[in-house]
Amino acid sequence: MTSRESPYPPGSAAFPHRDLVGIDVLQPHEILFLLDEAAQWVELGRRPTKHDDRLAGLTIINAFFENSTRTLLSFEIAGKRLGADVVNMHAAQSSIKKGETLIDTAMTLNAMHADAIVIRHGSSGAVQLIADKVDCPVLNAGDGQHEHPTQALLDALTIRNAKGRIDGLTVVICGDILHSRVARSNILCLTSLGARVRVCAPPALMPAGIEEMKVEVFHDFNTAIEGVDVVMMLRLQMERMEGEFIPSPREYRHLYGLTEERLARTSPDTLVMHPGPMNRGIEIDSTVADLVDRSLITRQVEMGVAIRMACLDVLTRRTRKVEGWQ
Ligand code: ASP
Repeated sequence: MTSRESPYPPGSAAFPHRDLVGIDVLQPHEILFLLDEAAQWVELGRRPTKHDDRLAGLTIINAFFENSTRTLLSFEIAGKRLGADVVNMHAAQSSIKKGETLIDTAMTLNAMHADAIVIRHGSSGAVQLIADKVDCPVLNAGDGQHEHPTQALLDALTIRNAKGRIDGLTVVICGDILHSRVARSNILCLTSLGARVRVCAPPALMPAGIEEMKVEVFHDFNTAIEGVDVVMMLRLQMERMEGEFIPSPREYRHLYGLTEERLARTSPDTLVMHPGPMNRGIEIDSTVADLVDRSLITRQVEMGVAIRMACLDVLTRRTRKVEGWQ
């Protein structure tokens, strides 16, 4: 497509934000712009040689203050495939353990002249705090219970590729909605792109006032799953729970687990998603997670690299003085 045919405003107006902290500030056309940008990186990722040098000479710091497997790896691969110098900082080995404040860490990262900083942090709002202190683009790789924007973008890309559209689809998100930044970012992203979103959880794991996010609220999974195009399952985030939120994992599976029997209540083209890590046998059974024709879980991982490449490319265009983006 030539720039004249582009459905987006030209240059930086297509994506006017310096940072990617949350989906909440993005317009639908800005989300679609990132999804469209990712298409070329899906294609590159399927080639034997997966290299593009557009970020050569730039330094990207992945500062992860909370554990991660796929998100950290995905950002690292994304930066490297674009030719950047990628450095990972793990909180366990950093001065955070020695009591350094978040602001001091931010100032330190800034003094190293990073060209983009990717941050995961256990506290909601911590990424914005750092973004306010540094001079380069900041990408949120998950902050507390707040947002995980690249997860929502990769989920949207996965759904769009599998179903051909997002507008008009019905998606049910089931599980620990209360503690899930994935649920929050996905609700914002999918509703913004015209999907109908249902959320399903036991009352103790459903945030108060969630209806204000333009979702339909269910506590009975058998009802919530009827007629949906996509079932998105979430992990029980035990690490964020203080006290008893569920009676027992066995009972939770019985009421809220995605089993073969429950999936049979949907149409054969209803697709299954999970952001990972999965607790097999609790929120999702292996027989469902591994369904070759209906589970998109490994496809989500693939789309994750492409989306993160798109975000790193787009957010560094001003630094790289790409025409129209200065
Ligand atoms: N990986 C996702 C996150 O970081 C989901 C999860 O941990 O359950 O939020």
